[in-house]
Amino acid sequence: HCAAQHARSACTPPMPVTPMPLVSRLFQPSNLREGQEAGGLTCHSQRLMLQAGLIQLSSPGCFHYLPTAVRSMEKLVRLIDQEMQAIGGQKVDMPALCGAELWRCSGRWELMGKEMFRLRDRHNAEYCLGPTHEEVVTELLASQTKLSYRQLPLLLYQVTRKFRDEQKPKFGLLRGREFYMKDMYSFDVSEEAALHTYQSVCHAYRRLLDRLGLRWVQVQADTGNIGGTLSHEFHLPADVGEDRLLMCGNCGFSANVEALEAGRMDCPQCLTQPLTESKGIEVGHTFYLGTKYSQVFSAMFTNAQNKPALAQMGCFGLGVTRILAASIEVLSSEDSIRWPRLLAPYQVCVVPPKKGSKASEVIHMAEELAHHLGNCFPNLKGDVILDDRTQLTIGKRLKDAGRLGYPYVVVVGQKAMEEKPVFEVSTGSCKDCAFRRTNSMASPT
Ligand code: ATP
Ligand code: MG
Ligand code: MG
Ligand code: MG
Repeated sequence: HCAAQHARSACTPPMPVTPMPLVSRLFQPSNLREGQEAGGLTCHSQRLMLQAGLIQLSSPGCFHYLPTAVRSMEKLVRLIDQEMQAIGGQKVDMPALCGAELWRCSGRWELMGKEMFRLRDRHNAEYCLGPTHEEVVTELLASQTKLSYRQLPLLLYQVTRKFRDEQKPKFGLLRGREFYMKDMYSFDVSEEAALHTYQSVCHAYRRLLDRLGLRWVQVQADTGNIGGTLSHEFHLPADVGEDRLLMCGNCGFSANVEALEAGRMDCPQCLTQPLTESKGIEVGHTFYLGTKYSQVFSAMFTNAQNKPALAQMGCFGLGVTRILAASIEVLSSEDSIRWPRLLAPYQVCVVPPKKGSKASEVIHMAEELAHHLGNCFPNLKGDVILDDRTQLTIGKRLKDAGRLGYPYVVVVGQKAMEEKPVFEVSTGSCKDCAFRRTNSMASPT
């Protein structure tokens, strides 16, 4: 047995070593001019993201997500996965190409109007590119003939591209025609159970936005063409927000204007106060659907009395690419990005001095420091980048670093060689550290 194991391990190829990320190697083209030419800059986050080489416009409302943006997106998706799985969500991945028949059944083939991207295959069958997936997921569930009440609640979610032919794609990733959404669909045995699930998803959304350190509001919302009877939106307050929100300073009531009777400006809950208006960016939307879709597709389960019953449903959307851009929109200054700490593409950037006769020893030390940080602090693994463009001055590289918004920048200058080995980083200090003090360490930008 041991011999076999030995032989096996001898044949196992070694794990590849991930090289130190280097700024000189990053594919991070600044696309500001092109962005300006192609339809103008409509908001702050769009300009910052183009300038820092996070995104590049491909066609109206469609973007390339460049490597640093993909790193942030992956971090955001990991957080979303944690929150959705903590409440029992199971991740799936449904087709983006959806047959028209399903949408005809629900009546939304017509209802969706011009916002739906429609196409035909070689046999002339009609399809759309999924703008949302209520029909697709309900049909998936309806095809399970042996679903028992013991398997419910069932919460299926995905993080996929959605397609909407927005009349006016604008604000960069805030309103795209192709964008990433996390959409979750819940199936429950009763209305009471479905409302319980609804509350637990709202709670998970609030926790996610709190973990990102974002200021948010939850408001009553209109159910639009998705339908249902109970609905909330999650907004980041911001002037570029396209939604008008009304709040009551007396009882805490809050709603999207769209959810109130036309023109009503007094609080419908306490009737005492005029409502105050502000603007918000919608980042999430929750719906209690009841049996609206399960009835159409006969999504049934066998209940405790061994009788068939319709599943009670909810659906829950989060704009993944919109959260990324909206958090940049609300947190950043005019010329530098500030990320929610958990989403920064890299946590630390180490900047060695400019090349010169006396610099080589310090440059070497900075390189070792960058390696060391990544190895000694598990939560920085892969998240430390070295700005190895030593042909440039420190000042020029600090300006770039500010633009991308690394939470920490460590400048290693000549003074780093002067004193005893001391090195600290705010995530904790390393008792085995063999490194000398860096001459300056910028705190969060
Ligand atoms: P909006 O009112 O901004 O058009 P919506 O109400 O049509 O959004 P939903 O159908 O509720 O959007 O979709 C769920 C989530 O998907 C939204 O809360 C938002 O975060 C995101 N989202 C919707 N449309 C877009 C878009 N065009 N670009 C980026 N994200 C979007
Ligand atoms: Mg919309
Ligand atoms: Mg909306
Ligand atoms: Mg919505």
